[in-house]
Amino acid sequence: MEKSCKIGIIRCSQTEDYCPGTADFMFLKKKGGAFEHLEGDLELVGFTNCGGCPGKRVLLKAQLLINRGAEVIAFASCIKKGTPLGYPCPFYEKMISLVRERLGDKVEILEYTH
Ligand code: SF4
Repeated sequence: MEKSCKIGIIRCSQTEDYCPGTADFMFLKKKGGAFEHLEGDLELVGFTNCGGCPGKRVLLKAQLLINRGAEVIAFASCIKKGTPLGYPCPFYEKMISLVRERLGDKVEILEYTH
């Protein structure tokens, strides 16, 4: 049996009202976008938000996903690329580097989803 790869996704809290995450789920299902290189079946273990501006709760959210088995944490494209509004998160570099510094030994970090 092929091993599965467990994924957690963190999205922008401010963008939630504009986007139900459809593209993230589609790319995950097709193993496309940032998920392309991952091996095995992809299994979504959680889909949460950053915790709101200025993103200081992101570590808690990332840890929550790790506690649920995430081996990979993907920041949804609304954060770094600003989709679908064309409005990237002004805090994305800090959020991603914080998670990478504190939890990067436990999970692979993907900076966008598609
Ligand atoms: S910190 Fe960034 S990702 Fe989080 S709600 Fe604010 S703009 Fe969105």
